[in-house]
Amino acid sequence: TPSTDDTAIHHLDDQTVQRIAAGEVVERPASVVKELIENSLDAGATRIAVAIEGGGTEGIRVRDNGHGIPESELPLAVAEHATSKISDIDDLDAGVGTLGFRGEALATIGAVSRLTVRSRPADAASGAELTVDGGDVGDIEPAGCPVGTTVEVEELFFNTPARRKFLNRDRTEFDHVNTVVSQYALANPDVAVAFEHDGREVFATEGTGSLRSAVLSVYGRDVAESMIEVDHETDGDGPIERISGLVSDPETTRSTRSYLATFVNDRYVTASLLRGAVVDAYGGQLAPDRYPFAVLFVDVPPASVDVNVHPRKTEVRFDDEDGVAAGVRDAVTDALLDAGLIRSSAPRG
Ligand code: ADP
Ligand code: MG
Repeated sequence: TPSTDDTAIHHLDDQTVQRIAAGEVVERPASVVKELIENSLDAGATRIAVAIEGGGTEGIRVRDNGHGIPESELPLAVAEHATSKISDIDDLDAGVGTLGFRGEALATIGAVSRLTVRSRPADAASGAELTVDGGDVGDIEPAGCPVGTTVEVEELFFNTPARRKFLNRDRTEFDHVNTVVSQYALANPDVAVAFEHDGREVFATEGTGSLRSAVLSVYGRDVAESMIEVDHETDGDGPIERISGLVSDPETTRSTRSYLATFVNDRYVTASLLRGAVVDAYGGQLAPDRYPFAVLFVDVPPASVDVNVHPRKTEVRFDDEDGVAAGVRDAVTDALLDAGLIRSSAPRG
């Protein structure tokens, strides 16, 4: 029988608390890559290079040409609840213009891996780096590097064996990372995003600002050429302000919904509502269990949507779910009809 000391309620020490919390936020390599790309975008990067090894389980490196981190601020960058993006609750209420603001990601990742942050702001003569080893923050070291920031993550979950055991085969983890990098590349056609796995290029977008060019880099020529434009602006009386993007013809499909990329107010979401509306737009003219490609940006009044900003969740809730679904479906149907890609027997609502 356990002694009373073991069973009595007691506070956990800080490192244990942090490690448990980290496992909740950082689920797998893809969640690390998401956080690092968002930081690069928040830093105003126009070039982001993502390189992973073994599906990200062996190594992750994200390099950007953003504004960098001053040497003196490196320890803060990896500290919990430290951010340069908001100052107080008023900033939060006013609406956050950056992808991050919690100041948790680097601290969290550093708690469950060996994390190196190397950075050089434009006005610094040279760079500096800082390593965090399973939560232990090292000393600042000088580092030769170009302007911008490189973050390296090695041995993810080395100190949380239970979490590490949950990682899938490299191929599965790679698929998750690929989905994340693809989404951000498509959502930011003005940023050149390069993605490498085990030393081989997966894709590289040019950053010209053209969505079709980004689609061509990410999905290839056949898919890019099969896609037609959707651009529907409303007069503002419905729940949607604008729907724009690209959708494929009904023959260019895959067996999963993963290629239905939807963004609400420029934030990537996996709203089944939106995916369903896009599929409905084809009016039953897709082969059974086949799903089209879509990169769709849906703009709604910010107050009418709850983009659940929990770091792990990408679901959204709209005030007028039926109205949004109908708006998306009709806009996509109209575009497909105009292009002569579906027959007009498609049911309308
Ligand atoms: P958050 O993004 O919520 O602020 P993070 O833990 O992701 O929290 O990052 C902490 C801070 O480190 C950021 O607020 C930012 O100042 C700095 N930082 C992180 N990554 C980068 C980057 N790639 N370029 C410039 N600054 C960065
Ligand atoms: Mg962040």
